[in-house]
Amino acid sequence: MDPYLLLEKTKRLLYDEASKAGRSVLMRKLAGPPLSSGTLGPDDEKIAREQLKARESWFDPAPVKDYENAFADWNGSAHAFSFMGARVALSSCVHALGLKPGDEVIVPGYTCVVVPNAFHYAGVKVIYADIELETYGLNASALRAKITPDTKAVLLHHLYGLVCRDYEEIIAIAHERGLFVIEDCAQATGAKYKGRNVGNLGDVAIYSTERSKVFSTVEGGFATCNDPTFAQRLEEYRGMAPYPDVFRIEKELYNVIIDYNVDVSPERWWKGRLVGLALRNKVVVSTVREEENGVRPRHYGCRLPAPLAVIGLNQLAKVGRYNQERREVAREWDNWCDKAGYEKPLVVENSVPVFLRYPLLVEPEKKKDTLWGYRELGVKLGVWYKSNLHPVTSKVEGCPYADEAVRRCINFPTIRERS
Ligand SMILES: *Cc1c(COP(=O)(O)O)cnc(C)c1O
Repeated sequence: MDPYLLLEKTKRLLYDEASKAGRSVLMRKLAGPPLSSGTLGPDDEKIAREQLKARESWFDPAPVKDYENAFADWNGSAHAFSFMGARVALSSCVHALGLKPGDEVIVPGYTCVVVPNAFHYAGVKVIYADIELETYGLNASALRAKITPDTKAVLLHHLYGLVCRDYEEIIAIAHERGLFVIEDCAQATGAKYKGRNVGNLGDVAIYSTERSKVFSTVEGGFATCNDPTFAQRLEEYRGMAPYPDVFRIEKELYNVIIDYNVDVSPERWWKGRLVGLALRNKVVVSTVREEENGVRPRHYGCRLPAPLAVIGLNQLAKVGRYNQERREVAREWDNWCDKAGYEKPLVVENSVPVFLRYPLLVEPEKKKDTLWGYRELGVKLGVWYKSNLHPVTSKVEGCPYADEAVRRCINFPTIRERS
């Protein structure tokens, strides 16, 4: 390269970094508690560094088995199978339930785009039904209205770590109409209903350990069930699923280091940027452009490899403590809602939520411009969801409550800042 150009380029880079660093200092006070990766600690960073050096054991099935058994035990489920995401776990459920092209599944019209995708990839028709605005779960009466002779399954979800309001009623409707129930527990790992973890009332359930969920392996998730026939089918799918390639595994491990330093570390206001810059080529995003367009990406459909299972085991040992913290912080937000005159989210009777985030409905202007969160509360506000099929801006017809949540639902962080 021309030396002059190189000099200019270097100057530009240094200038950019200096101005970003300057902003970082200003942002120190504004950084606030993490909305993502809050359960990662220096111990996880250490494990990631060790695993980066232990390539010979990346395809060892033993740690994965240990992790699956530990999760099944912890979750009170008979079986658990791990994948590179709850979305892949959902694909395994489609296989386990034997859903076929032309079958219909009813899904809440307020979800992540990767949820309908898992059905679309298998040719299963997705029918959206509205939610309720107390826990943002599938609305039982909306569900009833959408059942047709082709309906084979219903997907209910427990969002923000709350147990959904119509949980038992949805299960009852499904039993009465002979439908399978898939529980999407991606945001509610560890939430309890009548003493059992969510996911154990339906036929199959999915959990996510993506970086913004209850605990993190950067990407990852489980399918669980209690029925031996479904277990055999889930295991079959897991057995057919390839491992991610070594470049992907390496990136995932680097992202444990990035996420801890950028989102959680007490020094993140200066160190986060350095680590982020040094490892900028390693960043993984969980939902790629193809998925936003409903296309199955080439790397889709993998099982979880050993090094991420080792991280997951370490995370699992800590998750109870973090969920306790989330519930305590939620009580503080309850008090804030009472004072500020906002409706608190519903905690269903006999349930123990995990409050992945604390959701509430605010004025639409306060969702469009969330900077008031910094100014008035010292926190970055979450905006799950900004569309019916997050993060895609497409709209789903006939779900007015979901539309209202899209306009008005914001989320407070529930993990405290580390110091
Ligand atoms: C995050 C999420 C998923 C997908 O989980 P991945 O592990 O990222 O595949 C599915 N459903 C809901 C409700 C989610 O929040």
